[in-house]
Amino acid sequence: SLRLSTGQQALQTRARKLAETIIRPQAAETDLTETYPEGVVRSLTEAGFMGMSVPEALGGPGHGCFEVALVVEEIARCCGVSGRIVVEGNMGAVGAILRYGSEGQQEMAARHVLSGDKPAICITEPGAGSAASEMITTAVRDGDSWVLNGSKHWITGGGVSRLHLIFAQVVEDGLCQGIGGFIAFLGEEGLDVGAREPTMGLRGIPETVINLRNMRIPLDRLVTPPDGIEHGFAGLMNAYNAQRVGAATVALGIAQGAFEAARDHVKERAQFGRPIAEFQGLQWMLADMSIQIDAARMLIWRAALSAETEPSGFPDPMLAAQAKVFTSEMAVKVTNDALQLHGAKGYSRHAPIERMVRDARMFTIGGGTAQMLRNLVAGRVLGMKTPQTRDGYSLAGNAVKA
Ligand code: FAD
Repeated sequence: SLRLSTGQQALQTRARKLAETIIRPQAAETDLTETYPEGVVRSLTEAGFMGMSVPEALGGPGHGCFEVALVVEEIARCCGVSGRIVVEGNMGAVGAILRYGSEGQQEMAARHVLSGDKPAICITEPGAGSAASEMITTAVRDGDSWVLNGSKHWITGGGVSRLHLIFAQVVEDGLCQGIGGFIAFLGEEGLDVGAREPTMGLRGIPETVINLRNMRIPLDRLVTPPDGIEHGFAGLMNAYNAQRVGAATVALGIAQGAFEAARDHVKERAQFGRPIAEFQGLQWMLADMSIQIDAARMLIWRAALSAETEPSGFPDPMLAAQAKVFTSEMAVKVTNDALQLHGAKGYSRHAPIERMVRDARMFTIGGGTAQMLRNLVAGRVLGMKTPQTRDGYSLAGNAVKA
């Protein structure tokens, strides 16, 4: 149903209050100083917004993807960086470990997020972006340990995240078995935090290189999805659908925040002897912005709710992709229109709008580009998987396979 339960409304209200009182006042500073907002994270942790998805048996409140999305939107409406922290404190790496991990792995992941850690998920490499499965990082079995070697880049939280889920090619007896996820911790020998990327937006979370240099970890650090390592990448990426919905929700929150600022501004600002809100051209811009935002929210809610019925326990990949494509592109447009409605004031770094424009820009890229997600949607629409590699067509089982 589109109506929130009393409990969901209360959660939303609580998140909004925290966002307005603690997070909004710090958002500009976080952007300007480009520092991880530790104080905000403490407040989020105390409020119970980190580890919301941890089941009761492991000490969490056991909320679903939908409840997390309600909170993320409220937080991101005031600060995109804080919204992303809530996403990663509930989805992504921790989601995968809570579902696929052993009892010990689950307990460890729960402990981390409940105490305020924002885990890092390490997939992307310099040579493997959209073609993520072409990663060359390896985890080679050596007796009773795995030895990891490789280099990841654009890792959100590099240097501040404690828990890492590192994707690597699993090599046993000299043979590659598939892609697995390995648990590693900041400070462990062999995990080196490399250079930080200077980014356009979302500047309060470091994006860094993570180098793995003969990193030796025990065998029980491997997270195995239900279909085994051979299909490990597919399994781990299934968990990633929750993070995708989360990323879309951050974009939604940023757009909502920018829209509200623009709505207030046009009522206040007068030109030609009247509030600029009286000009129909601007009214229609606001109308379109509100329609786009509401449509995005419905796609996100539908995707988030699908997690409750999907056998995987994660949002349906198609619905998650639709929500992320639409919302990420909507947020780019809506934040830009909000800037336009502010005139020069919107272009000033004294107002939050230019930050929102920069922050919103990321979401058509990170966590699966809008193009790659369209490939996914098209595959479902057509009922066929189109190979992206040149030789994909000539390999057995090829081209148009329903
Ligand atoms: P490329 O793959 O080089 O793509 C370049 C362009 O080509 C894009 O427009 C793409 O859509 C297009 N393209 C490529 N292949 C196709 C195709 N087959 N069909 C159509 N179009 C195609 N990664 C992590 O592992 N962990 C993180 O925490 C993380 N955080 C990130 C945070 C930020 C702010 C950003 C920007 C990125 C982050 N990433 C992270 C990396 C992100 O997942 C990749 O940037 C993304 O997967 C795209 O890879 P790429 O940048 O190498 O682009």
